Amino acid sequence: MNSLPAFSVDEPPVWLLSFDFDGTLCDPDDSPPVSPRFFEMIQELRISQKACWGINTGRSLMHTVEGIMDAKFPYLPDFLVVREREIYRPNRFSRWVGDKQWNKSCEVAHNKLFRRHRRLLAKIRKWVESKTAAVWGIQEGEPAGIVASTSSEMDFIVQYIDTHIASVREICYQRNGIYLRFSHCDYHKGTAMQEVARQLGIGSEKIFAIGDSHNDTDMLNKDIAQSIACPGNACDEVKAHVINQGGYLAESHVSAGAVEAMNALFNMGEDSKNIWAENTGGGNRTRTPEGT
Ligand SMILES: [Mg+2]
Repeated sequence: MNSLPAFSVDEPPVWLLSFDFDGTLCDPDDSPPVSPRFFEMIQELRISQKACWGINTGRSLMHTVEGIMDAKFPYLPDFLVVREREIYRPNRFSRWVGDKQWNKSCEVAHNKLFRRHRRLLAKIRKWVESKTAAVWGIQEGEPAGIVASTSSEMDFIVQYIDTHIASVREICYQRNGIYLRFSHCDYHKGTAMQEVARQLGIGSEKIFAIGDSHNDTDMLNKDIAQSIACPGNACDEVKAHVINQGGYLAESHVSAGAVEAMNALFNMGEDSKNIWAENTGGGNRTRTPEGT
């Protein structure tokens, strides 16, 4: 599987499009898991807007590559951000190669973080294991993570964590439903995406990001990406976050929602004119997420 035709120094990309994977691009229960229209649009935007695109996910690299194969992508993304922080790009043999400088800085920062705050993390672990049914997970390169038994249990755990890390500037966490991993505040979906854009010379005004869960809020940030959106199946907190920042709340779910948002942003269909403006507060419509 190849990428779309590469950009050149003479004709660099103008737009950067960043997509969360699970629940935003891919629905494994749907057939096909990603709308074919999505891939057609990415190809059209490659030409009309000089847009590059990538997946920005909490999955590991191996798990992301598996997801791409399972969903039968017709071509590879231009970049991946995995584990919400590490950057990879395909080489000419379609092998994923890490961004050495960024990924090394990220690894060093996390090693220091987990050493420096091991007592705090041990205290949180003790509380989680004694007060909840959640499991504390340790994996290679991932010394601290939690898997809750339910989403509401994770809500409860997050409340406890928030009060205990509030005064520690550098430690934060990435939550995706019942999963949580501790991480360094300087490395998340937003800063990794910003680094990819910086290397390409793309400013925030030409960045589009879309995601559905808590771990997407760092990239759904108008300071980093001026065009932000979420699909109709996004969790209520993300819908509220996107609306509060004047972003686009799609009515369609998963990849159909991504297609809807891109249609609106780039005026790709007759019916889409001004929908982006209307749905982002540029018009007269005010929308609130269901259930909030
Ligand atoms: Mg997601």
